[in-house]
Amino acid sequence: MDSISIAGAGPTGLALALFLKQKGVTPYIFEQKSERVKLSKAFGVNPRTLTLLEETGATERFLQNGRKMTALNLWRNGKIVLKNDFSEKKIKYPFMLVQSQEDSERILEELLLEQGVEVDRGKTLQKVSMEQHGIRLQLKEKESLQTDFLFGADGAGSTVRKSLGLSFQGHKVEDAWNLIDLELELPLDRDDAHIFLLDKGAVFIVRVYGDVWRVIGNVENLLEYLPKETQVGQVIWKSDFGISHRSVENFNYQHVFLGGDAAHIHSGLGARGMNLGIEDAYVFAQLFAQGNVEAYNTHRKPVIDEVMKRIEMMTDIMRGQSFKAQMMRKMTPILPFAFALVKDYATDFVLGLDHDIKI
Ligand SMILES: Cc1cc2nc3c(=O)[nH]c(=O)nc-3n(C[C@H](O)[C@H](O)[C@H](O)COP(=O)(O)OP(=O)(O)OC[C@H]3O[C@@H](n4cnc5c(N)ncnc54)[C@H](O)[C@@H]3O)c2cc1C
Repeated sequence: MDSISIAGAGPTGLALALFLKQKGVTPYIFEQKSERVKLSKAFGVNPRTLTLLEETGATERFLQNGRKMTALNLWRNGKIVLKNDFSEKKIKYPFMLVQSQEDSERILEELLLEQGVEVDRGKTLQKVSMEQHGIRLQLKEKESLQTDFLFGADGAGSTVRKSLGLSFQGHKVEDAWNLIDLELELPLDRDDAHIFLLDKGAVFIVRVYGDVWRVIGNVENLLEYLPKETQVGQVIWKSDFGISHRSVENFNYQHVFLGGDAAHIHSGLGARGMNLGIEDAYVFAQLFAQGNVEAYNTHRKPVIDEVMKRIEMMTDIMRGQSFKAQMMRKMTPILPFAFALVKDYATDFVLGLDHDIKI
C-alpha cells in the first residue's frame, strides 16, 4: 500500500489522520512542537464539523466537553438590534460548540492514539524534494524519509508550500485586531455571542468557559465598549494580530496536497479557519480512499474561494472604514428588516452550512 505522511498536528493534520484511519489507512503524522500549545486560537466548532467528525467518535467527546452557543446578538447603542437564534434551524446540531482549540486538538490526538497512531513530536520539516520514486522529506533532526504521498497541514507559514515554491496570493488587511481572554461579570446572556457595532468597527464577545470571555475588536481599549456594569477579573491572554486573506492557486502539486491554514488564511470572522481545515481533511480522506486524490483541488478550490469572498465581505462590514461599511453599522432602524431578508444566508454562513460537500 502507498504510504502517506502528514506534516503538522494542528486540527487539520490530526483530523486527517483520524479520517484516514477510519478508511483503514495508517498515516505517518509528525509535528515540530514537543507539546500541544496551551493558548487557544479557535473556540467555535460549527455544525458542519460536528457532522463530519461523527464517524471518528470525536463529535461525541466534543459535545461532552464543550458548551453550546445558541444565538448571536448584534448590539448598537446599548440595544439588541438583531438576534440570530440558531435553535430555529432544523438541523441536528443547531448551535456552535464552544471549546478551546487546545481541547479540540487534545481530543483528536487522544482518539488517534487509541487507534494506534501516535503523533511523532519534535520533528521539524525543513525541505521537500520530489524524487523519481516518491517524495523525500528532510527533517531538522538530521533525518530524512521517503513517502508516496504528502499532506501539508503545517499552518500559515507552511514549509511544504514554501519548499515547493508554491505562491500564496492575497493581501494583508491594514489594521490590527486586539484580543483579550479574561474573567468578566457582565449583564449579557452567557450562552449567546454578542457583537457591538461601533462607528469605527466592532467588538465581538463570547464566553469561552466558566467566567472567562473572549473579547475581540478592531478598536483600542476593547473593554471600554462593554456594558458599564461590567466587572473585570483576571486576564488570561492578551494579543493583537493582523489579518491576511491568502490562498494557494492549486491545492495539489503532483502527490503533495495542502489543507487548512497551509492552503488558505482569512479573517477569523465567522470562525471558519479550523472548521474549513477539518473539512479539507474530510474531503481529502474520502478521495484518497477512492483512489481519486487528483480531484482534491477541483473539490476544494472553488468552495474555499467562495467562502473567502463571503468572509471578506462580512469582515469589511464589521471593520471597514468605507462610507458603505460605516452606514451598514449605523443604519440601526432598518437593520432588523434588512436582516430578515438575509437571515437564512447569514445563519448558514455562521454555522458553516453555506456550501455543500459532494464527493
Ligand atoms: C485569534 C484567533 C481566533 C480564531 N478562532 C477560530 C474559530 O473560532 N474557529 C475556527 O474555525 N478557526 C478559528 N481561528 C483559525 C484557526 O485557529 C486556524 O485556522 C487553525 O488553527 C488552522 O489549523 P491547521 O491545523 O491548518 O494549522 P495550525 O493550527 O497552524 O497547525 C499547524 C501545525 O503544524 C506544525 N508545523 C508548522 N511547521 C512545521 C514544520 N516545519 N514541521 C513540522 N510541523 C510543523 C505547527 O507546529 C502546528 O502544530 C482563529 C484564529 C485566530 C488567530
